[in-house]
Amino acid sequence: MSVNKTDYDAIVIGSGPNGLAAAITIQQAGLSVLLVEAKETIGGGMRSAELTLPHFIHDVCSAIHPLAECSPFFKTLPLEKHGLEFIDPVIAAAHPFTDGTAAALYKSIEQTAKGLGEDEGSYYKLINPVVKNWPGIIAGVLAPLHFPKHPFDMARFGLKALTSAQHVSKIFQSKKARGLWGGMAAHSIQPLSNAATSAPGLILMGAAHSTGWPLAKGGSQTIANALASYFLSIGGSIETNFYVDSLNKLPSARALLFDVTPKQLLTIAGYKFSSLYKWQLERYRYGLGVFKIDWALDGPIPFTAPECRQAGTVHLGNTFEEIADSEQQTSDGKHPQKPFVLLTQQSLFDPSRAPEGKHTAWAYCHVPNGSRLNMTRLIEKQVERFAPGFGDRIMERHVMNTAQIEEYNPNYIGGDIVGGVMDLRQLFTRPGLRLSPYKTSARGIYICSSSTPPGGGIHGMCGYHAAKKALRDVFNKKAAVIY
Ligand SMILES: Cc1cc2nc3c(=O)[nH]c(=O)nc-3n(C[C@H](O)[C@H](O)[C@H](O)COP(=O)(O)OP(=O)(O)OC[C@H]3O[C@@H](n4cnc5c(N)ncnc54)[C@H](O)[C@@H]3O)c2cc1C
Repeated sequence: MSVNKTDYDAIVIGSGPNGLAAAITIQQAGLSVLLVEAKETIGGGMRSAELTLPHFIHDVCSAIHPLAECSPFFKTLPLEKHGLEFIDPVIAAAHPFTDGTAAALYKSIEQTAKGLGEDEGSYYKLINPVVKNWPGIIAGVLAPLHFPKHPFDMARFGLKALTSAQHVSKIFQSKKARGLWGGMAAHSIQPLSNAATSAPGLILMGAAHSTGWPLAKGGSQTIANALASYFLSIGGSIETNFYVDSLNKLPSARALLFDVTPKQLLTIAGYKFSSLYKWQLERYRYGLGVFKIDWALDGPIPFTAPECRQAGTVHLGNTFEEIADSEQQTSDGKHPQKPFVLLTQQSLFDPSRAPEGKHTAWAYCHVPNGSRLNMTRLIEKQVERFAPGFGDRIMERHVMNTAQIEEYNPNYIGGDIVGGVMDLRQLFTRPGLRLSPYKTSARGIYICSSSTPPGGGIHGMCGYHAAKKALRDVFNKKAAVIY
């Protein structure tokens, strides 16, 4: 469908959580916003589809939503009225070992700590301060670098978060606690010896004990649909099948907000930028890729450990050492024989995902950026290690290597799912060291994707903060206050 030559106050390019959040924030200020999306459907990393067999609904990208549930911006929106319902699995995450036992991350910090035996006290000491100060910590973590409203809580959190997961692992003695910690920290998608790899571990565990690790009833697509439905209800416009490869393609507008990564932004609007800004974007670093697999199953995954059969997410990596080795090898450009696998089993808690008695499962492992290797055999071997008989339950599978993932969503450069490495150097300076990370050097052009702070995940906060900046600069208006 083509767009009539109409003027808009702002145009947002890309309908991921950040594009939708940016569009909503500007529309809420009483301005007119057009949201354009390259693909046939909206949602970016929040889409769901029948990837394998009819009536099996798979989350194509994101599946589990601790960040969406605690997003300060999403919380202000009436998303339930627009069809969003979160479901909390009985156990947020389980971590099985080859001896048939498992560690489990429950909503209750006490229950989780108790399950870790001799490390009960150490777990409590590590996580309790995060849980106690959660509202201040999550607000600080999901904001650009600024003077925090709760400086002491943030400083205490920061001291631990900025250390390596390897370093923090030393507080634990048991295989269970060390393994559980390793799986959480590996969400950093980096070697666990890197600085700040403790941050995702602490945030994810804090979220599990505070809000939860929910999945969206009906599929992650319902988050996108709820955001889009709300945006339309307040007067916004959406055009799909609208791939922007040049600024000339767009109707006129006073502000453009790009939910794309630096590489794409350079291609589309590079000629508008100062040489310093171009130099910064050209040096932006992308991280490891992922190999993704979805299964249609004729029954639940037969995990040996009962905790895994009640968990929304299962981390398959056995010991801390095995996980650390897998992440290090991947970072060295190799494909580990025992890759660390992140697996979710939505249909156990949401029957709408599969026909009666049947199930879906979703998994991925980290691979070198741009890898074309088919990791199906190695991923399925990892599942089989902790769930003998799994292979017999597979009715159909759908796989995506890094090239197919990038083809599916142009923001996933080389299979990088968080819009650029989230290491210490690039965590707050994404996409470059600037007074405002959202403002480009060209008047009226902003970047609002996960390549800006606070980075990857479904939370919309990059979009909210970018829109806030554009509202102030271009329109002399304030965004709705969310903190
Ligand atoms: C396999 C996988 C698993 C994941 N699991 C989770 C999870 O469980 N929980 C979680 O919180 N996060 C998860 N993520 C990460 C999450 O999906 C991303 O961090 C998030 O989607 C980034 O949001 P965004 O708005 O910045 O960009 P995206 O969601 O990537 O959206 C960008 C949109 O812009 C469009 N676009 C790009 N270029 C153009 C153009 N030139 N013209 C028009 N449109 C364009 C794209 O088509 C896309 O729709 C996962 C990602 C993947 C791939």
